[in-house]
Amino acid sequence: MTNLAAFLVNSAAACRDQIAVRHDDTTLTYAELDASSARFAAVLRERGLQPGDRVAMTMPNVPLFPVVYYGILRAGGVVVPMNPLLKAREVAYVLRDCDTRVAVTFPLFAEEVAKAAAEVGAECLVTEPSAFHDLLMAVEPLSGIVDRADDDPALILYTSGTTGMPKGAELTHRNLVSNTATTAETLLHVGPDDVLFGGLPLFHAFGQTCALNTAVAAGATLTLLPRFDPQRALEIVHRDGVTVFLGVPTMYSALLHVELPDGFDASRLRVAVSGGAAIPVEVLHGFERRFGATVLEGYGLSETSPVASFNHPDRPRKAGSIGMPIRGVEMKLVAEDGSEVGPGEVGEIVIRGENVMKGYFHRPEATAEAVRDGWFHSGDLARADEEGFYFIVDRKKDLIIRGGYNVYPREIEEVLYEHPAVAEAAVVGVPHKAHGEEIAAVIALRGGADATAEQIRDYVKERVAAYKYPRIVTFTAELPKGPTGKILKREIVVPAP
Ligand code: AMP
Repeated sequence: MTNLAAFLVNSAAACRDQIAVRHDDTTLTYAELDASSARFAAVLRERGLQPGDRVAMTMPNVPLFPVVYYGILRAGGVVVPMNPLLKAREVAYVLRDCDTRVAVTFPLFAEEVAKAAAEVGAECLVTEPSAFHDLLMAVEPLSGIVDRADDDPALILYTSGTTGMPKGAELTHRNLVSNTATTAETLLHVGPDDVLFGGLPLFHAFGQTCALNTAVAAGATLTLLPRFDPQRALEIVHRDGVTVFLGVPTMYSALLHVELPDGFDASRLRVAVSGGAAIPVEVLHGFERRFGATVLEGYGLSETSPVASFNHPDRPRKAGSIGMPIRGVEMKLVAEDGSEVGPGEVGEIVIRGENVMKGYFHRPEATAEAVRDGWFHSGDLARADEEGFYFIVDRKKDLIIRGGYNVYPREIEEVLYEHPAVAEAAVVGVPHKAHGEEIAAVIALRGGADATAEQIRDYVKERVAAYKYPRIVTFTAELPKGPTGKILKREIVVPAP
């Protein structure tokens, strides 16, 4: 039987007293996490949870997150993790969409979740510290794990995908067990001595598979940071002897510009994983110079559990590349008509393998559109070199077409990140009468740095073909970011010229 919760049961048997999760001074050993989650499973069963029922959770990165998460799985439930910052109407949308009867939430976020639960007639269970403890202690721990088939869903992750309203990507036990085992064993070589940095939100696929489930599968320690802050991140790396850092590119660039704490020691850090968005090559090299650990970039989506490709640690790494498909996964690039493109040519990434979701929950049409002949269509454009390394060019929908020429924002952003005054950059298209679209760059400067719009524009103009440089350059204190720290292009507003 393949069950995601079995990772916890096995690690609790193998390393009972090892710390599984920590948040500052609060720790849970594997034995404690095992026992608490078995009690929470019993609580859910007592309330009538049936195998396959969906249970929503809105929790920050605190030790209770894995207690609730594995508790739901052990009871045979399907976890529906949500961003704790969602407002009542957004929560209600998810609860209704996947027909959830119970929503578990943290006191800090209880108000919005309670409103949503009342609206849809679901139960809202708040993890109030002492009351929650009493609730767990009032039951006998559920023994074992409620049986689920390999193809039964374990998780539903809400994602906007390439278009439209959020849809629930249904991931099965097999999807997640395979993606986690591959990450732990072949990509990161994680063992019980490892300490993983838990600053990526655990409600998102990247943090869940690559930090939480990978740590638990290997019997390693996950050290949590509920809200990313570069200074705090470095303190944790130092204090806990983090060996594996995981982050999105905006975290890496923030870490380049923050002061090192007194006596800072990152000597245990052996690898840093970047994913979720393209890491500018300049930022990757800057991090490696500053912290002495190799940065390995990977690529994936919520729909692919999430890891699809990675720069394998045992092969030479290529900066700027998302590596090659991982074990059990196939990837190819296709043109609009579905035919495969050759080396060096741009095509859409399609993915097939053990990591590809079952489908979008109760959305057969959207599923049929996304998964064709077993191939999941990612909406990301890439090219591959002769050796088989993939390079993301951009998202299909971010492509700018200026005067009939294709401009991939990512290429221009790479150049902008090379400018010494630039901390963050995003390139977007704005409507233009004559050219269809005009290229605009929105820049956040480094603290204390100075540059004019003309200087930035000329810097790029000297380095790229004339049709590609940004005619419009504007400045902002900080670029809008999503919950994982990805820059949100659709929220960037640049006045049309
Ligand atoms: P999500 O479903 O939230 O994980 O978002 C998936 C999207 O993140 C993909 O479709 C890509 O557009 C983007 N993404 C993930 N990893 C990378 C990467 N290494 N480089 C560029 N884009 C990435």
